[in-house]
Amino acid sequence: MAAKSQPNIPKAKSLDGVTNDRTASQGQWGRAWEVDWFSLASVIFLLLFAPFIVYYFIMACDQYSCALTGPVVDIVTGHARLSDIWAKTPPITRKAAQLYTLWVTFQVLLYTSLPDFCHKFLPGYVGGIQEGAVTPAGAVNKYQINGLQAWLLTHLLWFANAHLLSWFSPTIIFDNWIPLLWCANILGYAVSTFAMVKGYFFPTSARDCKFTGNFFYNYMMGIEFNPRIGKWFDFKLFFNGRPGIVAWTLINLSFAAKQRELHSHVTNAMVLVNVLQAIYVIDFFWNETWYLKTIDICHDHFGWYLGWGDCVWLPYLYTLQGLYLVYHPVQLSTPHAVGVLLLGLVGYYIFRVANHQKDLFRRTDGRCLIWGRKPKVIECSYTSADGQRHHSKLLVSGFWGVARHFNYVGDLMGSLAYCLACGGGHLLPYFYIIYMAILLTHRCLRDEHRCASKYGRDWERYTAAVPYRLLPGIF
Ligand code: NDP
Repeated sequence: MAAKSQPNIPKAKSLDGVTNDRTASQGQWGRAWEVDWFSLASVIFLLLFAPFIVYYFIMACDQYSCALTGPVVDIVTGHARLSDIWAKTPPITRKAAQLYTLWVTFQVLLYTSLPDFCHKFLPGYVGGIQEGAVTPAGAVNKYQINGLQAWLLTHLLWFANAHLLSWFSPTIIFDNWIPLLWCANILGYAVSTFAMVKGYFFPTSARDCKFTGNFFYNYMMGIEFNPRIGKWFDFKLFFNGRPGIVAWTLINLSFAAKQRELHSHVTNAMVLVNVLQAIYVIDFFWNETWYLKTIDICHDHFGWYLGWGDCVWLPYLYTLQGLYLVYHPVQLSTPHAVGVLLLGLVGYYIFRVANHQKDLFRRTDGRCLIWGRKPKVIECSYTSADGQRHHSKLLVSGFWGVARHFNYVGDLMGSLAYCLACGGGHLLPYFYIIYMAILLTHRCLRDEHRCASKYGRDWERYTAAVPYRLLPGIF
Protein backbone atom coordinates (compact mmCIF):
# COMPACT_ATOMS: atom_id res chain seq x y z
CA MET A 1 0.00 0.00 0.00
CA ALA A 2 1.22 3.47 -0.84
CA ALA A 3 0.87 4.69 2.71
CA LYS A 4 3.31 2.09 3.85
CA SER A 5 5.73 2.64 1.01
CA GLN A 6 6.11 6.34 1.82
CA PRO A 7 9.54 7.34 3.00
CA ASN A 8 9.64 8.92 6.46
CA ILE A 9 7.35 11.83 5.98
CA PRO A 10 8.95 14.93 7.44
CA LYS A 11 6.98 17.16 9.76
CA ALA A 12 5.79 20.40 8.25
CA LYS A 13 8.00 23.26 9.32
CA SER A 14 6.95 26.69 10.41
CA LEU A 15 7.43 29.26 7.72
CA ASP A 16 9.12 31.65 10.13
CA GLY A 17 12.55 32.26 8.71
CA VAL A 18 11.86 30.00 5.78
CA THR A 19 14.75 28.08 4.34
CA ASN A 20 14.94 26.20 1.10
CA ASP A 21 16.71 23.27 2.63
CA ARG A 22 15.67 19.73 1.90
CA THR A 23 13.36 19.30 4.86
CA ALA A 24 11.39 22.40 4.01
CA SER A 25 11.04 21.34 0.42
CA GLN A 26 9.83 17.90 1.34
CA GLY A 27 7.60 19.06 4.13
CA GLN A 28 5.75 21.90 2.55
CA TRP A 29 6.31 21.91 -1.18
CA GLY A 30 3.13 20.50 -2.61
CA ARG A 31 -0.03 20.41 -0.55
CA ALA A 32 -0.06 20.24 3.24
CA TRP A 33 1.06 17.17 5.17
CA GLU A 34 -0.83 18.33 8.23
CA VAL A 35 -4.32 19.77 8.33
CA ASP A 36 -5.12 22.75 10.50
CA TRP A 37 -8.64 23.16 11.87
CA PHE A 38 -9.52 25.98 9.45
CA SER A 39 -8.61 23.89 6.38
CA LEU A 40 -10.52 20.94 7.79
CA ALA A 41 -13.60 23.06 8.51
CA SER A 42 -13.46 24.53 4.98
CA VAL A 43 -13.09 21.08 3.47
CA ILE A 44 -16.07 19.68 5.38
CA PHE A 45 -18.14 22.77 4.56
CA LEU A 46 -17.42 22.42 0.85
CA LEU A 47 -17.99 18.66 0.79
CA LEU A 48 -21.35 19.19 2.46
CA PHE A 49 -22.56 22.32 0.73
CA ALA A 50 -20.89 22.74 -2.69
CA PRO A 51 -23.31 20.32 -4.44
CA PHE A 52 -26.25 22.22 -2.89
CA ILE A 53 -24.81 25.56 -3.97
CA VAL A 54 -24.72 24.36 -7.57
CA TYR A 55 -28.22 22.90 -7.27
CA TYR A 56 -29.51 26.12 -5.71
CA PHE A 57 -28.26 28.32 -8.57
CA ILE A 58 -29.58 26.06 -11.31
CA MET A 59 -32.89 25.48 -9.54
CA ALA A 60 -33.28 29.25 -8.94
CA CYS A 61 -33.04 29.77 -12.70
CA ASP A 62 -35.36 26.90 -13.50
CA GLN A 63 -38.09 27.73 -10.98
CA TYR A 64 -37.56 31.42 -10.14
CA SER A 65 -36.22 32.88 -13.42
CA CYS A 66 -32.77 33.28 -11.85
CA ALA A 67 -33.95 35.34 -8.85
CA LEU A 68 -31.37 34.15 -6.33
CA THR A 69 -33.36 35.19 -3.29
CA GLY A 70 -36.63 33.76 -4.68
CA PRO A 71 -36.45 30.27 -3.11
CA VAL A 72 -35.36 31.61 0.31
CA VAL A 73 -38.09 34.26 0.37
CA ASP A 74 -40.72 31.68 -0.61
CA ILE A 75 -39.60 29.29 2.11
CA VAL A 76 -39.30 31.96 4.81
CA THR A 77 -42.71 33.44 3.99
CA GLY A 78 -44.31 30.00 3.83
CA HIS A 79 -45.20 30.20 0.12
CA ALA A 80 -43.22 27.06 -0.58
CA ARG A 81 -41.67 24.18 1.31
CA LEU A 82 -38.39 22.50 0.49
CA SER A 83 -40.36 19.46 -0.58
CA ASP A 84 -42.35 21.58 -3.09
CA ILE A 85 -39.16 22.87 -4.66
CA TRP A 86 -37.68 19.40 -4.76
CA ALA A 87 -40.86 17.97 -6.29
CA LYS A 88 -40.60 20.48 -9.16
CA THR A 89 -36.96 19.57 -9.83
CA PRO A 90 -36.55 17.37 -12.91
CA PRO A 91 -35.10 13.95 -12.00
CA ILE A 92 -32.35 12.09 -13.83
CA THR A 93 -33.65 10.59 -17.08
CA ARG A 94 -32.56 7.76 -19.30
CA LYS A 95 -32.03 10.24 -22.14
CA ALA A 96 -29.72 12.44 -20.01
CA ALA A 97 -27.77 9.40 -18.81
CA GLN A 98 -27.29 8.20 -22.40
CA LEU A 99 -26.31 11.67 -23.58
CA TYR A 100 -23.81 12.14 -20.78
CA THR A 101 -22.29 8.68 -21.23
CA LEU A 102 -21.92 9.31 -24.96
CA TRP A 103 -20.36 12.71 -24.29
CA VAL A 104 -17.76 11.47 -21.81
CA THR A 105 -16.96 8.38 -23.90
CA PHE A 106 -16.46 10.56 -26.98
CA GLN A 107 -14.08 12.84 -25.07
CA VAL A 108 -12.16 9.86 -23.66
CA LEU A 109 -11.78 8.49 -27.19
CA LEU A 110 -10.60 11.83 -28.56
CA TYR A 111 -8.14 12.10 -25.69
CA THR A 112 -6.70 8.59 -25.78
CA SER A 113 -7.06 7.40 -29.36
CA LEU A 114 -6.23 10.38 -31.52
CA PRO A 115 -2.64 11.58 -31.18
CA ASP A 116 -2.34 15.27 -31.94
CA PHE A 117 -2.10 16.29 -35.57
CA CYS A 118 -2.84 20.01 -35.13
CA HIS A 119 0.80 20.84 -34.34
CA LYS A 120 1.74 19.49 -37.77
CA PHE A 121 -0.11 22.21 -39.63
CA LEU A 122 -0.92 25.05 -37.20
CA PRO A 123 2.04 27.45 -37.07
CA GLY A 124 3.03 28.38 -33.53
CA TYR A 125 0.87 25.73 -31.89
CA VAL A 126 2.70 23.37 -29.51
CA GLY A 127 0.94 20.00 -29.27
CA GLY A 128 1.85 16.31 -29.33
CA ILE A 129 3.99 14.76 -26.63
CA GLN A 130 5.19 17.33 -24.09
CA GLU A 131 6.83 17.24 -20.68
CA GLY A 132 5.31 18.54 -17.46
CA ALA A 133 7.19 20.20 -14.59
CA VAL A 134 9.37 18.37 -12.06
CA THR A 135 7.06 16.83 -9.44
CA PRO A 136 7.89 17.14 -5.73
CA ALA A 137 9.35 13.59 -5.89
CA GLY A 138 11.56 14.63 -8.81
CA ALA A 139 9.71 12.92 -11.68
CA VAL A 140 8.91 14.50 -15.05
CA ASN A 141 5.73 13.19 -16.69
CA LYS A 142 5.01 13.15 -20.39
CA TYR A 143 1.60 14.23 -21.72
CA GLN A 144 -0.22 13.81 -25.03
CA ILE A 145 -1.36 17.37 -25.77
CA ASN A 146 -4.34 17.09 -28.09
CA GLY A 147 -6.98 19.31 -26.45
CA LEU A 148 -7.22 21.80 -29.28
CA GLN A 149 -7.87 18.95 -31.69
CA ALA A 150 -10.57 17.52 -29.42
CA TRP A 151 -12.20 20.96 -29.11
CA LEU A 152 -12.10 21.55 -32.88
CA LEU A 153 -13.52 18.13 -33.79
CA THR A 154 -16.25 18.39 -31.16
CA HIS A 155 -17.32 21.83 -32.38
CA LEU A 156 -17.09 20.80 -36.02
CA LEU A 157 -19.55 18.02 -35.24
CA TRP A 158 -21.76 20.43 -33.31
CA PHE A 159 -22.00 22.85 -36.24
CA ALA A 160 -22.37 20.02 -38.76
CA ASN A 161 -25.30 18.78 -36.73
CA ALA A 162 -26.84 22.25 -36.38
CA HIS A 163 -26.59 23.12 -40.08
CA LEU A 164 -26.57 19.82 -41.96
CA LEU A 165 -27.25 16.63 -40.06
CA SER A 166 -29.98 17.62 -37.59
CA TRP A 167 -29.39 14.55 -35.41
CA PHE A 168 -30.38 16.54 -32.31
CA SER A 169 -31.61 20.00 -31.47
CA PRO A 170 -28.90 22.57 -30.56
CA THR A 171 -30.99 23.30 -27.46
CA ILE A 172 -30.39 19.74 -26.23
CA ILE A 173 -28.04 20.79 -23.44
CA PHE A 174 -30.38 23.45 -22.07
CA ASP A 175 -33.39 21.12 -22.40
CA ASN A 176 -31.69 18.46 -20.26
CA TRP A 177 -29.74 20.80 -18.00
CA ILE A 178 -30.94 19.53 -14.60
CA PRO A 179 -31.07 15.80 -15.51
CA LEU A 180 -27.50 16.25 -16.81
CA LEU A 181 -26.54 17.82 -13.49
CA TRP A 182 -27.31 14.54 -11.73
CA CYS A 183 -25.19 12.64 -14.27
CA ALA A 184 -22.29 15.07 -13.83
CA ASN A 185 -22.52 14.59 -10.05
CA ILE A 186 -22.44 10.82 -10.40
CA LEU A 187 -19.29 11.04 -12.52
CA GLY A 188 -17.72 13.64 -10.20
CA TYR A 189 -18.22 11.51 -7.10
CA ALA A 190 -17.28 8.27 -8.87
CA VAL A 191 -14.01 9.71 -10.17
CA SER A 192 -13.07 11.28 -6.82
CA THR A 193 -13.82 8.07 -4.94
CA PHE A 194 -11.91 5.99 -7.47
CA ALA A 195 -8.94 8.38 -7.20
CA MET A 196 -8.97 8.00 -3.40
CA VAL A 197 -9.06 4.18 -3.55
CA LYS A 198 -6.42 4.17 -6.26
CA GLY A 199 -4.20 6.42 -4.15
CA TYR A 200 -4.25 3.84 -1.35
CA PHE A 201 -4.09 0.60 -3.28
CA PHE A 202 -2.54 1.09 -6.71
CA PRO A 203 -1.03 4.56 -7.12
CA THR A 204 0.72 5.51 -10.33
CA SER A 205 3.64 7.04 -8.45
CA ALA A 206 3.75 6.17 -4.73
CA ARG A 207 6.54 8.68 -4.12
CA ASP A 208 4.32 11.55 -5.18
CA CYS A 209 1.36 10.52 -2.98
CA LYS A 210 0.50 12.48 0.14
CA PHE A 211 -1.43 11.25 3.16
CA THR A 212 -2.45 13.69 5.85
CA GLY A 213 -4.11 11.11 8.08
CA ASN A 214 -7.39 12.98 7.70
CA PHE A 215 -9.95 11.14 5.59
CA PHE A 216 -11.94 14.21 4.54
CA TYR A 217 -8.88 16.25 3.60
CA ASN A 218 -7.41 13.35 1.63
CA TYR A 219 -10.72 12.82 -0.17
CA MET A 220 -11.12 16.45 -1.06
CA MET A 221 -7.56 17.52 -1.88
CA GLY A 222 -6.46 14.15 -3.25
CA ILE A 223 -3.72 11.67 -2.48
CA GLU A 224 -2.14 10.99 -5.84
CA PHE A 225 -0.32 13.77 -7.60
CA ASN A 226 -0.68 12.49 -11.16
CA PRO A 227 -3.04 9.49 -11.20
CA ARG A 228 -2.99 7.71 -14.53
CA ILE A 229 -4.49 4.67 -16.18
CA GLY A 230 -2.00 3.17 -18.58
CA LYS A 231 0.70 5.36 -20.03
CA TRP A 232 -1.35 8.29 -21.25
CA PHE A 233 -4.72 8.62 -19.51
CA ASP A 234 -3.83 11.37 -17.05
CA PHE A 235 -6.74 12.19 -14.74
CA LYS A 236 -5.76 15.81 -14.14
CA LEU A 237 -5.23 16.75 -17.75
CA PHE A 238 -8.37 14.93 -18.88
CA PHE A 239 -10.81 16.10 -16.23
CA ASN A 240 -9.49 19.66 -16.01
CA GLY A 241 -9.76 20.22 -19.74
CA ARG A 242 -12.36 17.81 -21.00
CA PRO A 243 -15.19 17.12 -20.59
CA GLY A 244 -15.73 20.41 -18.66
CA ILE A 245 -13.87 23.05 -20.67
CA VAL A 246 -14.70 21.55 -24.09
CA ALA A 247 -18.31 21.54 -22.93
CA TRP A 248 -18.19 25.21 -21.78
CA THR A 249 -18.48 26.64 -25.31
CA LEU A 250 -21.04 24.03 -26.37
CA ILE A 251 -23.17 24.85 -23.35
CA ASN A 252 -23.06 28.54 -24.28
CA LEU A 253 -24.02 27.73 -27.87
CA SER A 254 -26.94 25.68 -26.62
CA PHE A 255 -28.06 28.58 -24.40
CA ALA A 256 -27.86 30.94 -27.41
CA ALA A 257 -29.95 28.49 -29.46
CA LYS A 258 -32.53 28.35 -26.65
CA GLN A 259 -32.65 32.12 -26.42
CA ARG A 260 -33.37 32.30 -30.14
CA GLU A 261 -36.04 29.58 -29.85
CA LEU A 262 -37.80 31.38 -26.98
CA HIS A 263 -37.35 35.02 -27.97
CA SER A 264 -36.81 34.76 -31.76
CA HIS A 265 -33.42 36.44 -31.63
CA VAL A 266 -30.01 36.25 -29.98
CA THR A 267 -29.17 39.39 -27.97
CA ASN A 268 -25.85 41.23 -28.12
CA ALA A 269 -25.26 40.28 -24.45
CA MET A 270 -25.51 36.58 -25.35
CA VAL A 271 -23.14 37.11 -28.28
CA LEU A 272 -20.65 38.90 -26.00
CA VAL A 273 -20.74 36.14 -23.39
CA ASN A 274 -20.31 33.48 -26.09
CA VAL A 275 -17.43 35.32 -27.77
CA LEU A 276 -15.50 36.37 -24.65
CA GLN A 277 -15.76 32.95 -23.02
CA ALA A 278 -14.90 31.21 -26.31
CA ILE A 279 -11.68 33.29 -26.48
CA TYR A 280 -10.81 32.09 -22.97
CA VAL A 281 -11.57 28.45 -23.83
CA ILE A 282 -9.70 28.45 -27.16
CA ASP A 283 -6.78 30.16 -25.42
CA PHE A 284 -6.77 27.35 -22.87
CA PHE A 285 -6.50 24.67 -25.54
CA TRP A 286 -4.09 26.62 -27.74
CA ASN A 287 -1.84 26.88 -24.67
CA GLU A 288 -2.49 23.43 -23.21
CA THR A 289 1.27 22.82 -23.01
CA TRP A 290 1.62 25.94 -20.89
CA TYR A 291 -1.17 24.60 -18.71
CA LEU A 292 1.15 21.73 -17.69
CA LYS A 293 3.16 24.33 -15.78
CA THR A 294 0.24 25.86 -13.87
CA ILE A 295 -0.72 25.18 -10.26
CA ASP A 296 -3.46 22.67 -11.14
CA ILE A 297 -0.92 20.34 -12.67
CA CYS A 298 2.25 21.33 -10.79
CA HIS A 299 0.87 21.57 -7.29
CA ASP A 300 -2.63 20.18 -6.71
CA HIS A 301 -3.23 16.52 -6.05
CA PHE A 302 -6.21 14.87 -7.71
CA GLY A 303 -9.18 14.52 -5.39
CA TRP A 304 -12.76 15.74 -5.11
CA TYR A 305 -11.65 19.37 -5.51
CA LEU A 306 -10.48 18.72 -9.06
CA GLY A 307 -12.55 15.61 -9.92
CA TRP A 308 -15.98 16.81 -8.81
CA GLY A 309 -15.07 20.45 -9.44
CA ASP A 310 -14.24 19.80 -13.10
CA CYS A 311 -17.31 17.64 -13.69
CA VAL A 312 -19.90 19.77 -11.88
CA TRP A 313 -18.75 23.14 -10.55
CA LEU A 314 -17.02 24.31 -13.70
CA PRO A 315 -19.61 23.46 -16.39
CA TYR A 316 -22.55 24.53 -14.22
CA LEU A 317 -21.31 27.68 -12.51
CA TYR A 318 -18.94 29.08 -15.14
CA THR A 319 -21.83 29.15 -17.60
CA LEU A 320 -24.34 31.00 -15.40
CA GLN A 321 -24.26 34.14 -17.56
CA GLY A 322 -25.46 32.28 -20.66
CA LEU A 323 -28.13 30.48 -18.63
CA TYR A 324 -29.31 33.78 -17.14
CA LEU A 325 -29.60 35.35 -20.58
CA VAL A 326 -31.97 32.59 -21.70
CA TYR A 327 -34.40 33.73 -18.98
CA HIS A 328 -33.55 37.44 -19.33
CA PRO A 329 -32.69 38.30 -22.93
CA VAL A 330 -30.70 41.46 -22.10
CA GLN A 331 -30.00 43.72 -25.09
CA LEU A 332 -27.22 46.15 -24.15
CA SER A 333 -26.91 49.72 -25.39
CA THR A 334 -24.00 50.16 -27.80
CA PRO A 335 -21.75 52.03 -25.28
CA HIS A 336 -22.45 49.36 -22.63
CA ALA A 337 -21.69 46.55 -25.09
CA VAL A 338 -18.49 48.25 -26.30
CA GLY A 339 -17.41 48.85 -22.69
CA VAL A 340 -17.93 45.17 -21.83
CA LEU A 341 -16.07 44.08 -24.95
CA LEU A 342 -13.12 46.37 -24.20
CA LEU A 343 -12.92 45.28 -20.56
CA GLY A 344 -13.03 41.64 -21.65
CA LEU A 345 -10.37 42.12 -24.32
CA VAL A 346 -8.01 44.19 -22.14
CA GLY A 347 -8.42 41.62 -19.34
CA TYR A 348 -7.68 38.82 -21.78
CA TYR A 349 -4.65 40.71 -23.11
CA ILE A 350 -3.15 41.09 -19.62
CA PHE A 351 -3.97 37.47 -18.74
CA ARG A 352 -2.41 36.14 -21.94
CA VAL A 353 0.66 38.38 -22.06
CA ALA A 354 1.48 37.82 -18.38
CA ASN A 355 1.17 34.06 -18.74
CA HIS A 356 3.13 34.13 -22.00
CA GLN A 357 5.93 36.19 -20.44
CA LYS A 358 6.47 33.62 -17.70
CA ASP A 359 6.19 30.72 -20.12
CA LEU A 360 8.64 32.24 -22.62
CA PHE A 361 11.04 33.17 -19.84
CA ARG A 362 11.04 29.66 -18.41
CA ARG A 363 11.23 27.92 -21.81
CA THR A 364 14.22 29.98 -22.94
CA ASP A 365 15.84 29.94 -19.50
CA GLY A 366 15.69 33.71 -19.46
CA ARG A 367 17.25 34.16 -22.91
CA CYS A 368 14.41 36.26 -24.31
CA LEU A 369 13.13 39.82 -24.45
CA ILE A 370 10.35 41.01 -22.14
CA TRP A 371 8.82 44.30 -23.18
CA GLY A 372 11.75 44.72 -25.58
CA ARG A 373 14.44 44.30 -22.93
CA LYS A 374 16.61 41.59 -21.43
CA PRO A 375 14.60 40.42 -18.39
CA LYS A 376 15.64 40.99 -14.79
CA VAL A 377 16.09 37.65 -13.06
CA ILE A 378 16.36 36.15 -9.59
CA GLU A 379 18.32 32.92 -9.66
CA CYS A 380 16.84 30.35 -7.30
CA SER A 381 17.23 26.74 -6.29
CA TYR A 382 15.21 24.03 -4.58
CA THR A 383 15.46 20.38 -3.63
CA SER A 384 13.03 17.65 -4.67
CA ALA A 385 12.14 14.76 -2.37
CA ASP A 386 14.69 12.49 -4.07
CA GLY A 387 17.42 14.83 -2.81
CA GLN A 388 18.20 16.29 -6.22
CA ARG A 389 19.14 19.96 -6.27
CA HIS A 390 17.44 21.92 -9.08
CA HIS A 391 18.01 25.43 -10.36
CA SER A 392 15.35 27.78 -11.58
CA LYS A 393 14.76 31.46 -12.25
CA LEU A 394 12.15 33.99 -11.21
CA LEU A 395 11.18 36.72 -13.64
CA VAL A 396 11.20 40.26 -12.26
CA SER A 397 10.32 42.07 -15.52
CA GLY A 398 7.14 42.67 -17.51
CA PHE A 399 3.89 42.02 -15.66
CA TRP A 400 5.86 39.86 -13.17
CA GLY A 401 7.65 43.01 -12.06
CA VAL A 402 4.36 44.93 -11.63
CA ALA A 403 2.86 42.43 -9.17
CA ARG A 404 3.57 38.82 -8.30
CA HIS A 405 0.27 37.56 -9.78
CA PHE A 406 -0.77 40.18 -12.30
CA ASN A 407 -2.01 37.37 -14.57
CA TYR A 408 -4.85 36.93 -12.05
CA VAL A 409 -5.81 40.61 -12.46
CA GLY A 410 -6.33 40.07 -16.20
CA ASP A 411 -8.44 37.01 -15.45
CA LEU A 412 -10.55 38.99 -12.99
CA MET A 413 -11.14 41.78 -15.51
CA GLY A 414 -12.32 39.24 -18.07
CA SER A 415 -14.58 37.58 -15.49
CA LEU A 416 -16.12 40.93 -14.58
CA ALA A 417 -16.82 41.60 -18.25
CA TYR A 418 -18.88 38.38 -18.57
CA CYS A 419 -20.96 39.46 -15.57
CA LEU A 420 -21.44 43.05 -16.73
CA ALA A 421 -22.75 41.71 -20.05
CA CYS A 422 -25.83 40.58 -18.12
CA GLY A 423 -26.82 44.09 -17.02
CA GLY A 424 -27.89 44.98 -13.49
CA GLY A 425 -31.20 43.11 -13.15
CA HIS A 426 -30.08 40.27 -10.89
CA LEU A 427 -27.27 39.14 -8.62
CA LEU A 428 -26.98 35.62 -10.02
CA PRO A 429 -24.74 36.32 -13.03
CA TYR A 430 -22.34 38.20 -10.71
CA PHE A 431 -21.62 35.06 -8.73
CA TYR A 432 -18.76 34.33 -11.14
CA ILE A 433 -16.72 37.45 -10.36
CA ILE A 434 -17.27 36.99 -6.62
CA TYR A 435 -16.18 33.37 -6.86
CA MET A 436 -13.16 34.17 -9.06
CA ALA A 437 -12.04 36.94 -6.70
CA ILE A 438 -12.13 34.50 -3.77
CA LEU A 439 -10.57 31.66 -5.77
CA LEU A 440 -7.70 33.72 -7.15
CA THR A 441 -6.95 35.54 -3.88
CA HIS A 442 -6.86 32.21 -2.07
CA ARG A 443 -4.78 30.72 -4.89
CA CYS A 444 -2.40 33.64 -4.65
CA LEU A 445 -1.86 32.98 -0.93
CA ARG A 446 -1.53 29.21 -1.50
CA ASP A 447 1.01 29.74 -4.24
CA GLU A 448 3.05 32.19 -2.19
CA HIS A 449 3.14 29.68 0.66
CA ARG A 450 4.32 27.00 -1.72
CA CYS A 451 6.94 29.18 -3.41
CA ALA A 452 8.26 30.42 -0.06
CA SER A 453 8.74 26.80 0.99
CA LYS A 454 10.22 25.76 -2.30
CA TYR A 455 12.65 28.64 -2.83
CA GLY A 456 13.18 29.94 0.71
CA ARG A 457 15.41 33.02 0.77
CA ASP A 458 15.35 33.31 -3.02
CA TRP A 459 11.60 33.85 -2.81
CA GLU A 460 12.12 36.48 -0.14
CA ARG A 461 14.41 38.31 -2.57
CA TYR A 462 11.60 38.23 -5.14
CA THR A 463 8.99 39.55 -2.72
CA ALA A 464 11.41 42.34 -1.78
CA ALA A 465 11.85 43.24 -5.46
CA VAL A 466 8.11 42.96 -6.25
CA PRO A 467 6.28 43.81 -3.03
CA TYR A 468 2.65 43.46 -4.15
CA ARG A 469 0.73 40.28 -4.92
CA LEU A 470 -2.11 41.49 -7.15
CA LEU A 471 -2.52 45.25 -7.28
CA PRO A 472 0.42 47.59 -6.77
CA GLY A 473 -0.15 49.79 -3.72
CA ILE A 474 -3.19 47.80 -2.55
CA PHE A 475 -2.56 44.07 -2.05
P1 NDP B 1 0.65 30.84 -12.31
O1 NDP B 1 0.63 30.54 -13.74
O2 NDP B 1 0.85 32.24 -11.88
O3 NDP B 1 1.80 29.92 -11.72
C1 NDP B 1 2.35 30.12 -10.46
C2 NDP B 1 3.71 29.44 -10.49
O4 NDP B 1 4.58 30.14 -11.39
C3 NDP B 1 4.42 29.46 -9.17
O5 NDP B 1 4.02 28.39 -8.35
C4 NDP B 1 5.87 29.32 -9.60
O6 NDP B 1 6.05 27.96 -9.97
C5 NDP B 1 5.92 30.14 -10.88
N1 NDP B 1 6.27 31.53 -10.68
C6 NDP B 1 5.77 32.38 -9.76
N2 NDP B 1 6.32 33.60 -9.90
C7 NDP B 1 7.19 33.50 -10.92
C8 NDP B 1 8.08 34.42 -11.54
N3 NDP B 1 8.20 35.67 -11.13
N4 NDP B 1 8.83 33.98 -12.57
C9 NDP B 1 8.73 32.71 -13.01
N5 NDP B 1 7.92 31.79 -12.46
C10 NDP B 1 7.15 32.18 -11.43
O7 NDP B 1 -0.61 30.36 -11.50
P2 NDP B 1 -1.89 29.48 -11.83
O8 NDP B 1 -1.47 28.14 -12.26
O9 NDP B 1 -2.75 29.58 -10.64
O10 NDP B 1 -2.65 30.27 -12.97
C11 NDP B 1 -2.43 30.18 -14.35
C12 NDP B 1 -3.50 31.00 -15.03
O11 NDP B 1 -4.74 30.29 -14.98
C13 NDP B 1 -3.74 32.36 -14.38
O12 NDP B 1 -3.78 33.36 -15.36
C14 NDP B 1 -5.07 32.22 -13.69
O13 NDP B 1 -5.76 33.44 -13.74
C15 NDP B 1 -5.75 31.13 -14.50
N6 NDP B 1 -6.67 30.34 -13.67
C16 NDP B 1 -7.99 30.30 -14.00
C17 NDP B 1 -8.88 29.58 -13.24
C18 NDP B 1 -10.32 29.51 -13.60
O14 NDP B 1 -11.03 28.79 -12.93
N7 NDP B 1 -10.77 30.24 -14.60
C19 NDP B 1 -8.44 28.81 -12.06
C20 NDP B 1 -7.04 28.94 -11.82
C21 NDP B 1 -6.20 29.67 -12.59
P3 NDP B 1 7.48 27.23 -10.03
O15 NDP B 1 7.40 26.19 -8.98
O16 NDP B 1 7.57 26.66 -11.40
O17 NDP B 1 8.54 28.26 -9.78
